[in-house]
Amino acid sequence: HLVPVGRALLSVSDKTGLLDLARALAGMGVELISTGGTAQALRTAGLAVRDVAEVTGFPEMMDGRVKTLHPNVHGGLLALRDDDEHLVAMAVHGIEPIDLLVVNLYPFEAAVARGASYDDCVENIDIGGPAMIRAAAKNHRFVNVVTDIADYAPLLAEMKAHKGATSHAFRQRLALTAYSRTAAYDAAVSGWMAEALAEPAPRRRAFAGQLASPLRYGENPHQRAAFYTDGTWRPGVATARQWQGKELSYNNINDTDAAFELVAEFDPLQGPACVIVKHANPCGVARGATLAEAYARAFDCDRTSAFGGIIALNQPLDAATAEKIVEIFTEVVIAPGADEGARAVFATKKNLRLLTTMGLPNPVARGLAFKQVAGGFLVQDRDAGHVTAADLRVVTKRAPTDAELADLMFAWTVAKHVKSNAIVYVKDGATVGVGAGQMSRVDSTRIAARKAEDMAMALGLPAPLTQGAVVASDAFFPFADGLITAAEAGATAIIQPGGSVRDDEVIAAADAAGLAMVFTGQRHFRH
Ligand code: 5GP
Repeated sequence: HLVPVGRALLSVSDKTGLLDLARALAGMGVELISTGGTAQALRTAGLAVRDVAEVTGFPEMMDGRVKTLHPNVHGGLLALRDDDEHLVAMAVHGIEPIDLLVVNLYPFEAAVARGASYDDCVENIDIGGPAMIRAAAKNHRFVNVVTDIADYAPLLAEMKAHKGATSHAFRQRLALTAYSRTAAYDAAVSGWMAEALAEPAPRRRAFAGQLASPLRYGENPHQRAAFYTDGTWRPGVATARQWQGKELSYNNINDTDAAFELVAEFDPLQGPACVIVKHANPCGVARGATLAEAYARAFDCDRTSAFGGIIALNQPLDAATAEKIVEIFTEVVIAPGADEGARAVFATKKNLRLLTTMGLPNPVARGLAFKQVAGGFLVQDRDAGHVTAADLRVVTKRAPTDAELADLMFAWTVAKHVKSNAIVYVKDGATVGVGAGQMSRVDSTRIAARKAEDMAMALGLPAPLTQGAVVASDAFFPFADGLITAAEAGATAIIQPGGSVRDDEVIAAADAAGLAMVFTGQRHFRH
């Protein structure tokens, strides 16, 4: 389905490559039509060109808002060359076919990027250009539409290969590019306008992913998957250096991210911390005097779940910690560095993936989080919520001791990173029971306590470590039962947002059990 190119309309804001293209087209006998600035550039270079004003019978007017919006142009682009009625209409109205449209649009995106005024941005919204592009692309059975300067050379090559004609497949590809261009252009306009109309807010980067690596499969082997970066260069799994081990899987990346984001909450200047994650939930989080001790304490929270886990550290991995880690099977270790000794220890474990980053991400950094739903997606600020001890409100007769307060803050930090309903028991800067992802808060409370009992059995402890521990709940206790369960497990202090209609009942139960309880006023749902 070869169609010869007899007439071309060129209307470009970016005149890069224009003269070479026009010369080559003229050399192949193509008649050239152009809008004001484009025509002038061609004439200056000595090329013969007809003004679009001559084709339309109207001058370009209204600051160029109306140049090509005319049936003589749109009819020439849209007419079906094999339809008798269309041919009659062309003949009756003196419409000439246009076989090739070369357009690049007013530089709207550039105007926004340079911080142009509102009115200036509006003036840079191209109207006639997209209209012509869409018309020509629709009629790709006959018409070529070039919207990308990178397609000038392929167009000429195509025409040379076919004695001045082009193939249907080639025109289809051009049409696809053209519709992508108009779609992106309109997205830029609507995105700019949404931002311009919004309350004064920090400028947000538009989401634009770049393929980092195809993945072997997704969450399950029958799902295709790929890994994209967003160009923000936050320290983390997307920008980490992998020293050894197999390719990261989809689940590895997801879990590693969860682990590293949590460990980044613990300031390395205040000492080493370790997080062990399974299925995106922490199964052990601890501080320690040394990194090796932090790991050992995190491991002791739930040794069963830690098997095949993902480990994140807030300080560079050292050999002593590496020695402990290789005692069991671990999928991934991520840390802001790893010394030579540590790397030597890991070298014997070929399957263990070691990732190092340039530092830790800022846990309160602004950003957007996306979630897909059928027919759309949800966008929200990432959960950068943060409370300090000064934000806490003591609601019980007893106030927490300093030691309890430190553990409460620790537990609250961990709870933020546990899937709801989240219940986290903490003692001496280490989790001792984590209840995650249950549909009822009291179940999460029970599960966390039961896991602590299991560990006490496994470690041969006289009592579960929930005895004398503190508890964090990511959202309020709707009833007193969850709190009573925690008290029965031996908890002495509770941190939770508060805000239930039954807060009074819950506070009374805490007082009755001699617990100290603080409200954060902030919730950390994570679904
Ligand atoms: P020139 O530099 O040739 O004067 O203008 C080229 C630009 O005008 C191209 O970016 C093209 O998309 C745009 N253009 C062509 N026709 C129209 C029209 O009717 N209205 C508007 N607003 N822009 C047009």
